[in-house]
Amino acid sequence: MYVSDCIGVNDKGHLTIGGCDTVELARRFGTPVYVYDEMEIRRNCQEFVRSIEDNYAGNGMVLYASKAFCCKEICRICAQENMGLDVVSGGELYTALSVDFPVEKIYFHGNNKTADELEQAVEHNVGRIVVDNIFELEMLERIAGDAGKTAEILFRIKPGIDAHTHSFVKTGQIDSKFGFALETGEAMAAVKKALEMKHIRLVGVHCHIGSQIFDIDPFELAARVMLDFMAQVKKETGLELDILNLGGGFGIKYLQTDRPRPFSDYMKKVSAVVKEYSAELGLKIPYIIIEPGRSIVGAAGLTLYTVGAVKKIPDVRTYVSVDGGMGDNPRYVLYQSKYEVLCANKANEPRECTATIAGKCCESGDLIQEWTSVQRVEPGDILAVLATGAYNYSMASNYNRICRPPVVMVKDGEARIVVERETYADMTRKDI
Ligand SMILES: *Cc1c(COP(=O)(O)O)cnc(C)c1O
Repeated sequence: MYVSDCIGVNDKGHLTIGGCDTVELARRFGTPVYVYDEMEIRRNCQEFVRSIEDNYAGNGMVLYASKAFCCKEICRICAQENMGLDVVSGGELYTALSVDFPVEKIYFHGNNKTADELEQAVEHNVGRIVVDNIFELEMLERIAGDAGKTAEILFRIKPGIDAHTHSFVKTGQIDSKFGFALETGEAMAAVKKALEMKHIRLVGVHCHIGSQIFDIDPFELAARVMLDFMAQVKKETGLELDILNLGGGFGIKYLQTDRPRPFSDYMKKVSAVVKEYSAELGLKIPYIIIEPGRSIVGAAGLTLYTVGAVKKIPDVRTYVSVDGGMGDNPRYVLYQSKYEVLCANKANEPRECTATIAGKCCESGDLIQEWTSVQRVEPGDILAVLATGAYNYSMASNYNRICRPPVVMVKDGEARIVVERETYADMTRKDI
C-alpha cells in the first residue's frame, strides 16, 4: 500500500515504520526527525549481495555509495552486511575509518580530490582510488611515492550513456565533469601513462551513468561499452584489467506509481551480458562491482514534521507549513523531486486535500512538495514525508541557522538515536 514494506498503519490509525508508531516517535524525539528502519536497510543490502552470489558466483562486491546517507551507524551496518563502501570525500572516509570499516573494501571517488584527501587515503591504505583525471593521477603518483607505497587505482570512464528515470540516450557525450572520455582517446592515453608510473597499479575501470534509473538496458549498454574498452586496452598494451565497476543509480519507489525493477533483475541481466560479452571479446570474466546508494536507504527512511500554520489562499492554493524544510530536504528545491506526504496521526483517513507543503525558511521557494494529496491537516498534526532516506540528511544544511534534525533508527519496534539533534551551541561552536 505504501512506497516501502516497512511502512504501515496501526490500530490507532497512526503511521508506523519498522513496527514503531511515528506519532510516538515524534513525541519522544521531537520534530523534525529522520527515521530509518534498520531491517529494511539490511534487507536491501542482502538483496544486492545475494544477487552477486546467485548470478555471478560471488565474483564481485557491492559498495554502498555513502553519499546517499553517511554516518557512523550506516557504515557499521554495511560492514556487518559484507558490503564495501564508496566514499567521495575526506569526511566520508574519516567517518568510515572512525568505525574501523575494513579499509580494503573502501573505494575513493571524486572528480577533484585534494592532495590532503589523497594523502589520507594513501596513509590509511584505502582499497582503491578511482582516479578521475590526469592531474589527479600525477598527484597520486607523487603522494604514493613519498609514502613508499603503490596505489591501486581504477579509472573513471565516461561511457557516453546518459540515463534518466524513464529513458536513456547513447550520447557519446564528453561534456561531463567526471572522468575520462573514450571517443577522444583520452582514456587510452591515461592508461598508457599509468602503466609508466612506478607507484600506481591500474586494476580496473569504473562508470556511473546516472541516478534513479528504472530501465536495465542502459546498464547493459554501459557494460558493453566498458568491456569494449577493456578489450582495447588489452590489445594495445597487453594489460588485462581485473575489475569492472558499473556504478549505482538503481531507481526506487518515491510514488505509488513508480515501478522499479527488483534489484536482482538488474544483476541477472547484466551479469549475463558481462559473461557472454567478455567471452566474445576474449577477456577473462572481470570482478564486478556495483554501487547502490539511494536503493539501499531511500525507501527505508522518512521524515516527520509538526504542522504549524495552515494558510488557505482562496482560489490560489493551501500552504501547510512545517517545522523543517529545504534545510533538511533540499531535493524539491533542487530537482522538483516527488514525494508521498501523509498525516501520520490521521493515516487511516482519505487524502482528500490538495496542499503545498512549505518549510520555515525565509525563501519563497522553500517547499517540500506542491499540489500533493494529503489528509485534512491542522496545526499540531504530524506530517510524514516518505522515502526521504537518501540525499536528505546527507544534503542537509544550517540555512537560517536551523539545527539539523536527529536520525533515529528503528528495529522491531525499538527506536534509538544514531545521530543527535544539532544544538545552537553546535552551530556557533566555530564562530569567533
Ligand atoms: C552517486 C553515485 C552512486 C550512487 O548513486 P545512487 O543513485 O544513489 O545509487 C554510485 N557511484 C557513484 C560514483 C556515484 O557518484
